[in-house]
Amino acid sequence: MHPFPLEPDRATMTEMGRLVLDRVIDRTENLAARPASGTLSPQAETELVRSFLTPPPARSGDLEALLARLDDAADCALETAGPGHLAYIPGSGLYSAALAEFYNRAVNRYGGLASVAPALAALEESVIRWMAEEVCGLPEGSGGLLTSGGSMATFSATVAARHHRLGEDLAGGTVYTSAFAHHSVAKAARLAGVPAARIRTVPHTPDLRMDPEAAAAMIRADRDAGLRPFLLVATAGTTDTGTVDPLPQLADLARGEGLWFHVDAAYGGFFRLTRRGEKRLAGIEEADSITLDPHKTLFMPFGTGALVVRDPAALHAAHDGTGSYLQDMTAAGSVPDSGRLGPELTHEIRGLRAWLPLHLHGVDAFREALDEKLDLAEHIHEVLSGVAELEVPQQPDLSTVVFSVRPADDSEAAARQADETGRRLLERINSHRRVVLSSTVVDHRYTLRVCVVSHRTHHDRITEALDIITAEARRG
Ligand SMILES: *Cc1c(COP(=O)(O)O)cnc(C)c1O
Repeated sequence: MHPFPLEPDRATMTEMGRLVLDRVIDRTENLAARPASGTLSPQAETELVRSFLTPPPARSGDLEALLARLDDAADCALETAGPGHLAYIPGSGLYSAALAEFYNRAVNRYGGLASVAPALAALEESVIRWMAEEVCGLPEGSGGLLTSGGSMATFSATVAARHHRLGEDLAGGTVYTSAFAHHSVAKAARLAGVPAARIRTVPHTPDLRMDPEAAAAMIRADRDAGLRPFLLVATAGTTDTGTVDPLPQLADLARGEGLWFHVDAAYGGFFRLTRRGEKRLAGIEEADSITLDPHKTLFMPFGTGALVVRDPAALHAAHDGTGSYLQDMTAAGSVPDSGRLGPELTHEIRGLRAWLPLHLHGVDAFREALDEKLDLAEHIHEVLSGVAELEVPQQPDLSTVVFSVRPADDSEAAARQADETGRRLLERINSHRRVVLSSTVVDHRYTLRVCVVSHRTHHDRITEALDIITAEARRG
């Protein structure tokens, strides 16, 4: 027995690593065959959940047995890494990113201040600049911060906008967004000190996009009433329907009215790597700040978000802080301290998990994978549009297709009945366990959605999904 059990020797480390790697590779190789959702009975699930609520033992355990338990826990879940996950906004988790993260966690370099690990900080900065300039089209000199997800990115953007436009006095500060904005937008505003009553929901046009004229009218009315409009948040790819707000008009409005313009592109942003996405996201390059979610459309593991900003100094001014215990830290020169750009100080070198896959596979591999998702969404739209029992109202802007059950007539009662049929339809589709779809509400109608984001979802699985949806819709 090694005298220090927390420091395994080389042979032990190798054996431990092999046990983990074997399981991970088995699971990954079998993803296409695995059920798209958990198969335990509710009672078995309750028991399993309870078995994991126990505290750790005083004495050592057996790694193989612990990994077997972990597999049970991981099986009791939506198969979010698999090709059948078409619910919410999928995040598939690249194998190469997991390996990068293993390396990252093992060397455990400090990511809060650039001078502690300057070359790794530069590596992270290169990923951020790529996202800001190449992905989003912001000018040179833009920058940002990698975050744990889109919600944190939008939070920091809101704090920066508030600090830049309102200063210390928040009174009367008012935010504008739409009914289809992600709930993290209103949450960020409230956390940033904006009362819920000062968060305006701008009406949308029939194609579900924020109405710039309505936004202009609201902003002017609020200003006339003595309020201080300071932030306009558009969405580039709504979570509900994947719709892109009219970014050029909203950018003009924000500029004309002196508002900070934030674009929530947590879902849609990386589609700008494709030709179609670049067209559909035109205007995003006018934003002051943009939320991206690499753990969605860059196929990174969960816990990887990003905020890119036109003026990193504004982000810095809102989040800077220090203490005398940091007096030994020298400034790192050209690379900013991420701990001074957001609420977090100590964290891992977040950029590594994106840097390794981007350099290993090349950007084109991501571009092509995203282009494939756009093709698949167009195909889904075309096939479902031919199913008489369904209504497929929107041509997809990105990779989300929404549909609902067609009501028997125009009456409210028929719509409610169709909604009820839609609920049962979702259950029946998902009960095959080959795909998982989710639902939402669009203009008071129960709406099913297919969201294709996983790098593992290809034409074969979509064909299977369409066969299941079509057969179940015809059964009524
Ligand atoms: C997922 C999502 C968010 C929230 O991001 P998290 O990473 O879950 O915090 C925000 N906005 C949009 C449009 C999203 O799709």
